[in-house]
Amino acid sequence: MSERRKYKKRYCKYCESKVDFMDYKDVGALRFSLSERYKIMPRRLTGNCKRHQDMISAVIKRARAAALVPYTVTRKTVVSAPFENLK
Ligand SMILES: [Zn+2]
Repeated sequence: MSERRKYKKRYCKYCESKVDFMDYKDVGALRFSLSERYKIMPRRLTGNCKRHQDMISAVIKRARAAALVPYTVTRKTVVSAPFENLK
């Protein structure tokens, strides 16, 4: 059963690396909580704690407003590694 689940480790990655502040310009740090279609991953999948999920959602929305992360992804622009062209 556990092998079938894509996200099996249920711990907060941001607590583990002791993140207290997130920069919306640091898109690489946001990738943990974005799906391949740039949607914000729900907490039940990532295992983020409430505090960091609130933080990441605010930061991702800010990054979207600054055009660092797209709001929508069409079928053509979906790629397997969405952040490769951003680096
Ligand atoms: Zn956390």
